[in-house]
Amino acid sequence: MPNNLVLGDCHTHLDQYDAADMAEILERAKESRVTFAVCAGTTIESTRACIELAESYGPLYAGIGIHPMEARDQVTDRMYAELETLAKSSPKVVCISEVGLDYLPESPDHQTQDQVFRQHIRLARSLKKPIIFHSRDSHPQVLQILRDERAGEVGGAMHYFQADEATAREAIDCGFFISLARPLTRLEEIQAVAKVIPLENIVLETDAAPQPFKKYRTNWTEPRHVLSVAETLAEIKEVSLEEVAQVTTRNLTRLLGLEHLTGASA
Ligand SMILES: [Zn+2]
Repeated sequence: MPNNLVLGDCHTHLDQYDAADMAEILERAKESRVTFAVCAGTTIESTRACIELAESYGPLYAGIGIHPMEARDQVTDRMYAELETLAKSSPKVVCISEVGLDYLPESPDHQTQDQVFRQHIRLARSLKKPIIFHSRDSHPQVLQILRDERAGEVGGAMHYFQADEATAREAIDCGFFISLARPLTRLEEIQAVAKVIPLENIVLETDAAPQPFKKYRTNWTEPRHVLSVAETLAEIKEVSLEEVAQVTTRNLTRLLGLEHLTGASA
């Protein structure tokens, strides 16, 4: 593996891991050339935890957000002010995330999700921070809101991409990157989309969170797995791993205002 490879993970939930494991998780990430990761909030509490992690660990950055599955109440003026204060509390807050829509049957009602998502987009635009969003069974509605609220002015990424080519192209047209995760390594339909979407529109992630349902702890997704996503993408696109790393990491560092992390490629 080339020594100068730099990879980043644009979406994790490392705050859900044991704090005692963090140093080792980051060490394993570094061994796989994953040198930085964004920790996305899912509630106000977890947003606070993500900021604390980012303040404690150099490679970690934080996202501010209420996850659509946690969006049971509308964002009040007071909550908005709290999110804004959190966003301004640390230079390591780099995006608004995790936000979006989730239309699984057990998800909160759609009107509430809609309001919460729009308020976060408003916050993102006022802070000029990109939006890394979640979309499940709700792609047309998410894209409509992104357009309505002119979210493309700040851009961002469609996290954990699992959709068709037309959806990918529309998200790109809205001003967003396509963020690929581990499903790329096993699902042919995602591989087919990844093949035709330019590398210039792709970033990488893991969505890492504890997975106690897996038999072996070593199989839990961690930021280190960005490397296997990058390797798969290189194979699919028939380009070198270096090229995948260089372009996707440049995409991500530019998006997050972290160009200093890649030095020459800025
Ligand atoms: Zn997530």
